[in-house]
Amino acid sequence: MQRIYLDNNATTPVLPEVLDAMRPYFIEHFGNASSIHHHGQETRAAVGRARESVAHLVGCRPPEIVFTSGGTEGDNLAIFGLVRPGDHVISSTIEHHAVLNSCKHLESAGCEITYVPVDGRGLVDPDDVRRALRPNTKLITIMMANNETGVLQPVEEIGTIASEADVCFHTDAVQAAGKVPINVKQIGCDLLSLSGHKMHAPQGVGALYVRKGTELQPMLYGGRHERSRRAGTENVAGIAGLGKAAELALESFRRGDLQKMSALRDYLEAAILAEVEATSVNGGRAPRVPNTTNIHFDYIEGEALVIALDLKGLAVSTGAACSSGAIEPSHVLTAMGLSPNQARASLRFSLGKQNGPTDVDFALSLIPATVARLRDLSPVYNKTAVSS
Ligand code: PLP
Repeated sequence: MQRIYLDNNATTPVLPEVLDAMRPYFIEHFGNASSIHHHGQETRAAVGRARESVAHLVGCRPPEIVFTSGGTEGDNLAIFGLVRPGDHVISSTIEHHAVLNSCKHLESAGCEITYVPVDGRGLVDPDDVRRALRPNTKLITIMMANNETGVLQPVEEIGTIASEADVCFHTDAVQAAGKVPINVKQIGCDLLSLSGHKMHAPQGVGALYVRKGTELQPMLYGGRHERSRRAGTENVAGIAGLGKAAELALESFRRGDLQKMSALRDYLEAAILAEVEATSVNGGRAPRVPNTTNIHFDYIEGEALVIALDLKGLAVSTGAACSSGAIEPSHVLTAMGLSPNQARASLRFSLGKQNGPTDVDFALSLIPATVARLRDLSPVYNKTAVSS
C-alpha cells in the first residue's frame, strides 16, 4: 500500500546526507567529546563543526549555541534559566505546550504571566506586547512560527520592543528553523530554540541560541559541558546530524527551494478549496512558513478524517489533543476565534523536503471523496444548504 506522509510539523525523516554525516560517530569515532585522547578530540571537533553550522543557520557566533535534547528542553532552559519567583513574563495564547506548560508551572511558583491574544489571522499584535510590559517583566517568550498554522509572528517588532524595554526575548523557532531564513541579530532576540527532528535531523537533538552576556542558570548540573550551561555527555551523532541539516537548509535557501515548497503548498491548498465546498484556510491571510496549511472542513470531525485518510495511506494531523478521553479543540485555533467545533473540523497538512508534486496529487486524489463520504454520514450536513 502506498503511504504518503504530510505531517512534517510533527517530525521529519532524516535526510540521507544527514544520516551519512552521523554514521561515523556510532562505531568508528565513538569517543567522549570530553576525553583528551585521540578519540575524544575527534568527536569534540565534530561537535565544534556542527556548532559552527548551526550558528551560521541562525546568524550568531558558535559559542552562543548550546546543544540540547530538542525543542522542549531549549524552551524550558530559556524560561527556567531566566525567570525567578516574583518576575513577570509575557507570552502568547498560541504557544506550543513546551512554553505554555512551562509558564503554567511558573505561575504556580509565584510568577505572573500575561498571555497576549492573537487576531483572526493568528497574529500577535506587537502593541499588545508593549502594553503588557511591567517594571518587573523579565522575559518575553513568543514563538516565531506556529506549529499548527505555520503563521509567522512579527518577531522583529517584538524584538525591538524587548530591547527598548531592556527585557529578554526568547523565541521558539522550532517550526521556523530550516523553513525560513533566521537571523538572531535581525530579530533582536536573546534566546532562540530549535529542534533537529523538525528539520530532517534526528529526534532527541536541538539547540538554544543564548546571546553572549545573557545570564542563564542551567537546568542540569554535572560536568562542564556546553560551557556549563547544559551538563551531560554530548549526543555527538545527533549533533553532527543537526549540523549537517543546518548546512543543507542554508543550501536549500540559496537554491530557492522555499519558493518551490510554498508553490506546492499553495497548489494543495487551492485544489482543496476548489474541490471541497465549505472549506477555508486557518491563518491563510498571515505570513506563513512555506510548508504548512491548516484547513477547516465544515461539518467534519477532524479526527475521523485523519483516521479515514490514514486508512487510505495519507498521514496528516489535527491540532487537537486527547485529554482524559475527550478530544480537546486546538488552543491555537480557538485563540484565533474558531468555535470548538470549527477547530475540531480542521486538519494540518505539512510538507517536507522529501515531498514532491506526486505526493500532493496522491493527497488530492483522496481528500475530496473522503470528505464527501464523511459528510454524507453527518446528521448536520445539508448539501442543499451548503451549495445554495
Ligand atoms: N515548539 C514547537 C513550536 C513545536 O512544534 C515543538 C514540537 O512539536 C516543540 C516546541 C517541542 O520540540 P521537541 O519535540 O524537539 O521537544
